[in-house]
Parts: sequence; C-alpha cells; structure tokens
Amino acid sequence: MINHHPPLELLFDYAAGTLPEPVALAVATHASMCPACRDEISAVEALGGALLETLEPVAMSATSLDAVLARLDEPEATPVTVSAARAASGVASFLPGPLRRYLGEVLPGGWDRLPWRRVTRSLEELRLPMSVQGFKASLMRLAPGSTVPVHTHRGQEFTLVLAGGFSDETGEYLPGDFACKDQTHVHRPVVDTDEPCISLVVLDAPLKLTGMMGRLVNPFINRM
Ligand SMILES: [Zn+2]
Repeated sequence: MINHHPPLELLFDYAAGTLPEPVALAVATHASMCPACRDEISAVEALGGALLETLEPVAMSATSLDAVLARLDEPEATPVTVSAARAASGVASFLPGPLRRYLGEVLPGGWDRLPWRRVTRSLEELRLPMSVQGFKASLMRLAPGSTVPVHTHRGQEFTLVLAGGFSDETGEYLPGDFACKDQTHVHRPVVDTDEPCISLVVLDAPLKLTGMMGRLVNPFINRM
C-alpha cells in the first residue's frame, strides 16, 4: 500500500512532458509502482489530448501526435541498454522498468550485484548517468538501523523508496512511497526496517541556487 505520492503538479508536468529528465525518472518509476498515479497521469494525458483536439489543426502536427503517443508508453518503456533477450528472461526484473535503461549492464542477482560505491559505513551510492546538468540522481542504500544526520536542502529533494523503508517526522516510507522535500523541511530519516533501505534520490540543489540569479537576470536579457 503506497501512502505517499508525488504532488499533483508534478504529475501534471510529467504528463505534459515538461519535467527535467531526473525528476521525470523519479515520477515514472513511482508511476510504474503505483496504479493510482498511473491513472492520474493517463487522465491528464487524455485531457491534454482532448484540449489539443479543440485547437486549430495547425497546432497538432503529425510529429507532436507521435510525441504524445510515444509518451503514453513511457512508464513501461523498453529498456534501451538491456537487450530484449535479457529483459525477456527476467534479468534485473527486481528493477522497476523506467530504471532499467539507466543500469543497462547490471548483472542478474538483485540489489547486491549493483556496482555500489561505499560513501560511509552505512551508506552506499550508485550515481545514475543523466543527460541534463544541475541535477544529481542516485540510488542510495542505507544499512538497517542507520540514521541520516539532520539536514535541510538547498533545493528540491525527491526520494522514491525501492526496497526496505525509512521514517522521519512526516511518517513512514515503504517501497513505492515518494517524498518531496525542499529547504523548508528539516528532517532526520531513520532506516527502521530489518533490510537495507534502497531509494532513488534526485537532487536539484545547484539549479535552485541559480534560480534567483535567473529571475534577476532574465527580465534584463528579455529586453535586449
Ligand atoms: Zn502514486
């Protein structure tokens, strides 16, 4: 039972195709685990399609129709780097579909076989390759019983639990649960399950820092 979902505006932006790649990955991976959010996204996409139909024909090119149709399949998109044969044989089937394309060379055998990099005694990380700057997307594995020091965030932090779970001041997070934190949150997650907590974590801190400069500078640039 999933109790924590992405905020609606995030689902809307995902359906509209306007989210940056790492955030879209977090939403797509949640949606692949959450029928309720899949339905929500489908409804928004259907609404978007209905709105497009009311526009002048010139607004709907064959290319944009293809793009809309292509997006309908996205949560269950075919992995790009995992061969069809391996996917068909169930290799890496422990990974939600949207994540598989980022971990193409993963060996069979579950989470333990991922190429984790040890950060501290209780934390391991696996950075995911992203084509956009300003974001960091990683799988994080925290040992049972470990706590993350109290911290705030310079920008947005999106966390999707994939295995195990954690708790913080806002509740308990289990597989499929999606947490969305920003600089107004101070939290202290505790891994209170018997198994490690494995999460997809997306940070947009650097982007947030340049946001204010962007707002100050952009009106000026637009006038030039
Ligand atoms: Zn959901």
